[in-house]
Amino acid sequence: MAAAPHDQVLADAVTHRDRRALAKAITLIESTRADHRAQADALLDALLPCTGQSLRIGISGVPGVGKSTFIEALGLLLIGQGHRVAVLAVDPSSSVSGGSILGDKTRMERLSINDAAFVRPSPTSGALGGVAEHTREAMLLCEAAGFDIVIVETVGVGQSETAVAGMTDLFVLLQLPNAGDDLQAIKRGVMELADLVAINKADIDDAAATRAQAQISSALRIFAFQGSHGHAAPVLKLSALKGDGLQAFWDAVQALAQQRRDCGAFDTRRQAQRQAWLWDIVHARLRADFEQHAAVREALPRLLAEVDAARTAPTVAARALLDLFEKH
Ligand code: GDP
Repeated sequence: MAAAPHDQVLADAVTHRDRRALAKAITLIESTRADHRAQADALLDALLPCTGQSLRIGISGVPGVGKSTFIEALGLLLIGQGHRVAVLAVDPSSSVSGGSILGDKTRMERLSINDAAFVRPSPTSGALGGVAEHTREAMLLCEAAGFDIVIVETVGVGQSETAVAGMTDLFVLLQLPNAGDDLQAIKRGVMELADLVAINKADIDDAAATRAQAQISSALRIFAFQGSHGHAAPVLKLSALKGDGLQAFWDAVQALAQQRRDCGAFDTRRQAQRQAWLWDIVHARLRADFEQHAAVREALPRLLAEVDAARTAPTVAARALLDLFEKH
């Protein structure tokens, strides 16, 4: 699709690293208006050749674990080393309640005002699927704007971790020093997603952090929570507040990324993510079409009532609905 002239102006401004143009472009992709969507698609098409060059890092952890403190400290360290760092958020709470677990725009103030950084809060409308969708697109726009590190932050609620792990190259789980005391509390599924675990706030109780490090490391080994590449995820200690362990963390991230590039797993993961992205959109669209289909809507209450009352088998009702959808 060729970009209309005004879209080309915006695309050029993004590739010239204009942060305001980037913010405007992200607002465009978050819009629900059909004409905006068409413009957004043209923009993404125009910018696609300039995307894909960043290292995409997902970061998750419960509220209060220190995500924003960590991302700000890491971001500033990396900018000091010549990188450009974008931070995006997937916060399902903001779309459900209008309130946000990840907090308001005052987070990461020092990072936000830095010219080599771009910090964008989570879109506030839409279900998780839509929020994740917009974040994936925003990630591409950030890459086109020359950010070589894109961090996607999320909270440990619902399916958001799976969504973020599915759009990043490495997924990092932040934990508290007492995490090892109650391994049951750590959701197994989330542990399995982690490529790297970092125990934050080690400055408060270094002995506890070391204990947690040992316990989580052995749990990762014993339960064979292996990363997709045959190695248990490394477990590190750090203090985001004091800045301790940040360089070691970054070294570990780079080592992991290099390992994966060398064995081809890096590209395989990206390829799988692109395919999954395509199917996500197809499924979401089919589902929306199905739910809005007149004949389906008309028959649905009756069939649901029959299924509830165990008078009709769910499979039979489902087939009846699909028949209506396909034939009308
Ligand atoms: P988030 O909700 O995960 O984004 O957590 P925040 O970054 O907002 O941090 C929650 C609180 O923990 C704040 O009061 C931070 O100052 C504090 N905090 C974050 N990292 C550390 C750390 O490494 N050590 C200590 N002692 N406090 C920390």
